[in-house]
Amino acid sequence: MLDWSDIRARAQRGVGISEAEANAIAGLPASQLGELFEAAGSVRVEHKGNFVNTCGISNAKSGRCAEACSFCSQSAHYTTDAPKYLMKSADTLVAEAQEAWGHGVREYSLVASGRSMTNETELATVKDAVKRIRDTTGMQTCASLGLMSRESLAELQAAGLQSVHHNLETARSFHNNIVQTHTYDEEVDTVKAAKSLGMYTCCGGIFGMGESWTQRVELAMELRELDVDSVPINFLNPRPGTPLQAQQELSPEDCLKIIALYRLVLPTKDIIVCGGRAVNLGERQDEIFRCGANGVMLGNYLTTAGRSADIDLDMLEAEGLVIRPPPHQPHPPSLRPSVRAEGTDDNGVNP
Ligand code: SF4
Repeated sequence: MLDWSDIRARAQRGVGISEAEANAIAGLPASQLGELFEAAGSVRVEHKGNFVNTCGISNAKSGRCAEACSFCSQSAHYTTDAPKYLMKSADTLVAEAQEAWGHGVREYSLVASGRSMTNETELATVKDAVKRIRDTTGMQTCASLGLMSRESLAELQAAGLQSVHHNLETARSFHNNIVQTHTYDEEVDTVKAAKSLGMYTCCGGIFGMGESWTQRVELAMELRELDVDSVPINFLNPRPGTPLQAQQELSPEDCLKIIALYRLVLPTKDIIVCGGRAVNLGERQDEIFRCGANGVMLGNYLTTAGRSADIDLDMLEAEGLVIRPPPHQPHPPSLRPSVRAEGTDDNGVNP
């Protein structure tokens, strides 16, 4: 029997639920999710107020990846319609970042396909772009470059990179069902390397790949153990040509239940809803905040289109949310006043 008032009181103090409680919640039927959503929403308000983090990405280098992640249309092992191109120029990356900044993005990530970024020319492009994004926008800078060594991350950090994104993708016990070309420990090591440098770590997974509820809890516990700062929650958007192309999308109830569960396991962390939001949640996207999320990805995803930033800003406005102050300079004047929090706020990111 779940003691909701005790769970809520503990989470409001910053103490996450136990694994046993998380598994009990995971077993709740759709008809009994009201108390869960209410508790998770109140914990979000307690720790995050009416602030929301908005992130955006550039698919800086796309396709032709030698790895074989079953969900990913960028793997060279599968025949898909995902775009294939080499690293964009720093000029292009900076221009895209500046456009995102004007549309309300607060954290911006340069994402590249591939097992790892070891090519010096590509790394130099990322460093140049990061420095110029820092110089010309107020956004928190992030990169998602695959399995990265501490040395490479330190170089990027010296260029101004604040945040490292690297998903574990799924639970350790399910990882081998999804990818065999690299190990779970290699994923974990990248996150640990970023943490050892004091960088803000953005690390979550993809849900709806055939994992069990127990495995969703397992991933949440792993992320808590790693003490990551932000947890991106992606819902599988099955891509034609990938091994998971026939996977059934999750129901909106399951998506909201995952968000709420993660809020109660990780009460103080940033819970950001990213890829697959529209496909899996449909008309219920605005409920993610009431169920515990405090962030959302704006604009396009890696290989699929998102809805327009204006519709998402309408959603934030209707929910009474404002975009958290960015770390370097106040929101651009072009951002509508109703969703902007004034000032600057480092939110725990390294300078
Ligand atoms: S998720 Fe990354 S590593 Fe895996 S196939 Fe896609 S681009 Fe390659």
